[in-house]
Amino acid sequence: MARHFSAIQNKTANSADAGRSSARVSDDRDFSRVRSLRIILERPARRLDDRSRNAVQLAGSWHVADPCTAPNSEFDHGMSRKNRVPLADRVAKAAEAALAARHFVSAIDILVGIGWLDSGAVERWRRGQIDCLEEAIQTDPSRISEAMRLFRAWATAGGLSASETVYVDRTPRRQTPRFSRSGNPAIEASYRTHWVSPELSEKKRERLAERASRAPELVVVQPLNTEWICHRCGDTGDLLMMETPGPACLRCVGLDDLEYLPAGDALLTRRAKAKSTRHAVVVRFSRTRRRYERQGLLVEPQSLADAQRDRETP
Ligand SMILES: [Zn+2]
Repeated sequence: MARHFSAIQNKTANSADAGRSSARVSDDRDFSRVRSLRIILERPARRLDDRSRNAVQLAGSWHVADPCTAPNSEFDHGMSRKNRVPLADRVAKAAEAALAARHFVSAIDILVGIGWLDSGAVERWRRGQIDCLEEAIQTDPSRISEAMRLFRAWATAGGLSASETVYVDRTPRRQTPRFSRSGNPAIEASYRTHWVSPELSEKKRERLAERASRAPELVVVQPLNTEWICHRCGDTGDLLMMETPGPACLRCVGLDDLEYLPAGDALLTRRAKAKSTRHAVVVRFSRTRRRYERQGLLVEPQSLADAQRDRETP
């Protein structure tokens, strides 16, 4: 449905441009198609269920404090109300899909779901390679803010509960990655808010929130090419971490005190990981399988020693 509608919008937009050029106007078949597309667009949004319609109405009365994300006048006057309906529909669809899959919905689910954000970009952002998430969203700020208002309205109308989630980036610095260009705390908080299904019990909701706030694992690479050079200090080593400018050695990223524990002993791995306040997953690229494969973990030496001792004294 979402794709169908945006295709129509594109075609209509293209044809509207073409209307000014005499070459395209002469094509009667094209012209009649434009008319029929207009009719589809002007038809009332029968596909919206009550919840989505409520969402649209609620969104209309939403107040935006930040000038950066406030809807611009072009949107309010230049685009007619009918164009909002497809976006509400797309937002509701993306939200419902995420809710069905995981019992909660995040702003990222919506932006990825409606096709404005690429999940690869989300991963790069999480690894600290993109300054703020909005930089990677392929839509202008007023549309992003419109989608976010529709999302909140959808969630409120559906009785979902708001749960502010801690986001931690996938770098040794463990910083909170920024979502918005402005960095406005209220907008950051609204991006971080996950909306949780009302059907979950309090206990399940807590567990879900805890899991969502957990920092993503750091990934360290065992390079196939051993002639790499650290972009920070010019040194090299057996392991590296990828950063935006290039590979970095473990000393420069502050992980050189960790000890390598090869995969194979699942119990030892689990215990050492649980005791270690910091850990990183070690991967190596498999040329035959064409993907990175887990080789083991880097953990704090003390936690590895403790885990080994625990295993020997049952
Ligand atoms: Zn270095």
